[in-house]
Parts: sequence; C-alpha cells; structure tokens
Amino acid sequence: MKIFSKTDHSSGMKKLAIGVDIGGTNTSFGAVDQSGKVYFTGSFPTTGHPSFEAYASTIARTVLETVRRIDDAEIAGIGIGAPNAVRETGRIEQAANLAWKGSLPIAELIRKYTGIDNVRLDNDAKAATVGEMLYGGGRGIDNFAVITLGTGIGSGFVVNGRLVTGHDGQAGELGHSTVVPGGRTCGCGRKGCLETYTSAVGIKRTAFEVLSDTLPAEAALSPLSAIAYNDMTSKMISDAARQGDPVALRIFEQTGEMLGRSLANLTTVLSPEVIFLFGGLARAGELILDPTRRSMERNMLENFKRDMPRLALSAIDGDNAAILGASALVWQAVG
Ligand SMILES: [Zn+2]
Repeated sequence: MKIFSKTDHSSGMKKLAIGVDIGGTNTSFGAVDQSGKVYFTGSFPTTGHPSFEAYASTIARTVLETVRRIDDAEIAGIGIGAPNAVRETGRIEQAANLAWKGSLPIAELIRKYTGIDNVRLDNDAKAATVGEMLYGGGRGIDNFAVITLGTGIGSGFVVNGRLVTGHDGQAGELGHSTVVPGGRTCGCGRKGCLETYTSAVGIKRTAFEVLSDTLPAEAALSPLSAIAYNDMTSKMISDAARQGDPVALRIFEQTGEMLGRSLANLTTVLSPEVIFLFGGLARAGELILDPTRRSMERNMLENFKRDMPRLALSAIDGDNAAILGASALVWQAVG
C-alpha cells in the first residue's frame, strides 16, 4: 500500500472526510477537509480479495489505520465513489468492471467494519459533480452540469443548487442518450449512444473511421496510421492534433460535433450556466472544447444562443479528483 502524508501539525482539531474511489484496478482513498485540502492519499489493488466482504473490510482497516496517523483528526464520515453505485440503497449494482457481480451492499459493510455511521455512496460521475460544487468551479453556481469523459461517459446535474438524483437515484445517464439513431453499437445493448462517440473508446472508434475515410496517401502521413487499435490512446490522438495532424484534427472535430449536439439538447432541458468537462479526454483542452462549442452553437435552439452555457474544464481535475469527489459526498450530507 502507498501512503503519502501531508499532516499539518500547526492547527487544532481537524474535521476530515474520507474519500474512497473504487476503480476496477485500484481503490484509492484520502482524507480531505471542508475546503478541499487533501491530507493524505493511499491506494491498494481492488482485485485479489477472497470475497467482497473481505475487500470491504480491507478498505475499512486501511482507512482507519491511516487516519490514526493524523494528529487531532475527527472523521466526519466516509464518502465512496464507485461505478454503478446507487446513493439511495448504498449498493453497487451489476458493475461491469468489478470482479464481484450482483448487488453489493458496500455502504452497510463499511459502516459495520469501521463503526462510522455517516457513510455516503454515489456513482463516480455524481461524486465528481458534488466535488465540483463544493471545491471546484461550481462553487456559487446554482445551475451547472459535469460531463465525465473517461472509459465511459458519466454526468451529473445541479439544478437550483441541488444535485439531480431522479426518483430512483439514476438520473444523469447522458452517456446513454442517443446522438445517432441506429449508430454505433453500445455496451448497454442499444445503438448510437453518446458514449460510443465521445468516451476514450469512442474517440478511438472515430479515429479508425476517419483513417479509413481518408485517402490512403494522406492517411499514411498521419502518425496515427501506424498505431494498432489496441495500442491507440486518446492521448496519442491529442498529441498528433497538437502537431497539426489533419487526420487527428478531424477526429476531434467529429467528437466535438457529437458532444456539442448532446449538450445543445441538454441545454434545452436544464439551461445550465456552465458545463464542466472532466476526465481523460478533457485533458485535450481546447482541442475538444473548441469543436464542441461550435457544434453546440450550430445545434442550439435559437432562444439559448444569446446566452449559451459556458463550456469549461473542471477546476478539480487532477490526480486526486476522484478522492475529492467521493469525500465531497460527506460534506454534502452534513452541510
Ligand atoms: Zn448505451
């Protein structure tokens, strides 16, 4: 296990929230105060535990052991961000990228093994949205959206200062709204979902489509033409675009077209003041922001064109973003 400690000995009793981010490969955790200052982070593998119960008890033990090293710390609660997590039930449901299947009562197990009652759970995208609301660019903004562009597409919406959960906690599945009827096959079993175009995998699918649509002589000039499908990453595409590769720029143009289409639709429903992009593909910066803005404008209902939502990068993206988001669930609950 890796632990990085930044204990501040100068102040008095610190009230800290523990953020736990459950990923398919690693589980990372950290202690965060109400201003978003991170006191330590650590991580251990999500895989290799004999059962889900054993995994949950490892989270509890590791977190408690680490917290004991911080002087004068009071734990306000534990927030957990996980794929397919449902806030209302405290369970992870049928997560495709975890080794355990079915319905997993994570919140209840963490309460049992830590003795801490205030345990909050939500999916990673909603945790990121609450993080943006409490520590990031969403502070003081009552209506905004966060779109996470990672392996999949996640989203969270804040309307009139409150996170939208929907009647069953499932609101915010913009990634599975249709942008191309009858389009690309999606992991959800449907076709043409936003996720199949604008996730890390989606942009790769676009890359191969654009390459095969380009005259062979021109395609051969692109550094992307020599890369096999399994080896290609969205970073390689943005690196090529930064060097002015016309193929890579067309890939971003098409990705922005799809994202902008979807965000124009979203605007007609929620009228957000700002839409924040978060996650791997957001690191492409203006390469993704610029074509998305132009597409939003092309596809936007006339009434909204005068005062279009601002499209910006998340203010809390970075190495600790997932931990910050998970910890924010605790403050949202106590605040
Ligand atoms: Zn889908």
